Amino acid sequence: MLNKKSIDDIQVKGKRVLVRCDFNVPLQDGKITDEVRLTAALPTLKKLIADGGRLILCSHLGKPKGEPKPELSLAPVAERLSELLGQEVRFAADPEVVGPNAKKAAAELQDGEVMLLENTRYRAEETKNGEAFSKDLASLAEVFVDDAFGTAHRAHCSNVGVTEFLSPCAVGYLMQKEIDFLGNAVNQPERPFVAILGGSKVSSKISVINNLLDKVDTLIIGGGMAYTFLKAQGKEVGTSLLEADYIDYAKEMMEKAAAKQVELLIPMDTVVAKEFANDAPSRVAEGDIQPDEMGLDIGPKTRERFAAALKNAKTVVWNGPMGVFEMPNFAAGTIAVAKALAEISATTIIGGGDSAAAVNQLGFGDKMTHISTGGGASLEFLEGKELPGVAAADDK
Ligand code: AMP
Repeated sequence: MLNKKSIDDIQVKGKRVLVRCDFNVPLQDGKITDEVRLTAALPTLKKLIADGGRLILCSHLGKPKGEPKPELSLAPVAERLSELLGQEVRFAADPEVVGPNAKKAAAELQDGEVMLLENTRYRAEETKNGEAFSKDLASLAEVFVDDAFGTAHRAHCSNVGVTEFLSPCAVGYLMQKEIDFLGNAVNQPERPFVAILGGSKVSSKISVINNLLDKVDTLIIGGGMAYTFLKAQGKEVGTSLLEADYIDYAKEMMEKAAAKQVELLIPMDTVVAKEFANDAPSRVAEGDIQPDEMGLDIGPKTRERFAAALKNAKTVVWNGPMGVFEMPNFAAGTIAVAKALAEISATTIIGGGDSAAAVNQLGFGDKMTHISTGGGASLEFLEGKELPGVAAADDK
């Protein structure tokens, strides 16, 4: 269990509460195309509203790199959030985030009212955890609540710096839920515990592989990263994604798995094509891949093998697609894994990012125990690291 002060432990009535949310939602022509992160924030916001807090919400959106960029304004979020909450969310449109509009709106807030600041990354200091912007943010409020799990792996002003200047600090329900699920899965899993890793690169998941080999009963590796493992086994991988510098590492991990008696599964067949295109003619390759072919998905035998390994699992953590799932002709492996997870009675936890998108797009979202709202953050959690955003949420 998360050992932090929760919003159930603090008094917010009549107090101005700065709430760091993760409203980093995808936008297209000013419209929000996926509002999971907004709905995920609602339980915390509703609780603080019901308790009579005066809420000042803040978040980043995209990467404006320290400058106001109208296309990355949080204005559409304020509008949609007003609808979702059924009450006005006043938007403080200051290019400097904490400016005259924000200060006035914060001073005028009544119990149970809500306002939203402009994109915190309009200020260059945000991502440098600078003191001036941290103090500016803190000056608006008396209490701090961090509910932005998606940013917890970053030490920025709005989730870390600000905690130096506000007390009490607490974590919201979303943060608590994320850490409870991921923490319990990794540290007290019901066994068998199976982890599935995919995605493009071994190099971005080195520490995850290493840490999970100390915890799991079975580690399944698919996606682009599998080819470095196949190469390490002496197979030819053609023009597939290969990180030559990590072949030795892959060998080391296979040895570690054997020494720890962890079952390590890598693809036995792959779907290959000569071009990186959905309509490229493809075939299933068993064994070596031809020099002009690249592996773009796991093959049918592998899908069956992976599904069989998941059948008796009691805890499963999944991060990264099994193939280039954005192209329908190479999505079958990712679909098969999602389906296998939907059919078993286990605690199933989906790391954010691509695997979360895949599960949701494929319509299996409600069959999973927990879908993380933080791709990078959940990955660093699986590396066994303490996340700065979580560490800072302790009262100073
Ligand atoms: P990551 O961001 O590292 O989790 O990787 C996700 C990306 O990996 C997705 O965009 C997939 O299309 C890509 N991917 C998965 N399998 C392969 C593959 N066999 N070849 C190339 N890219 C892949």
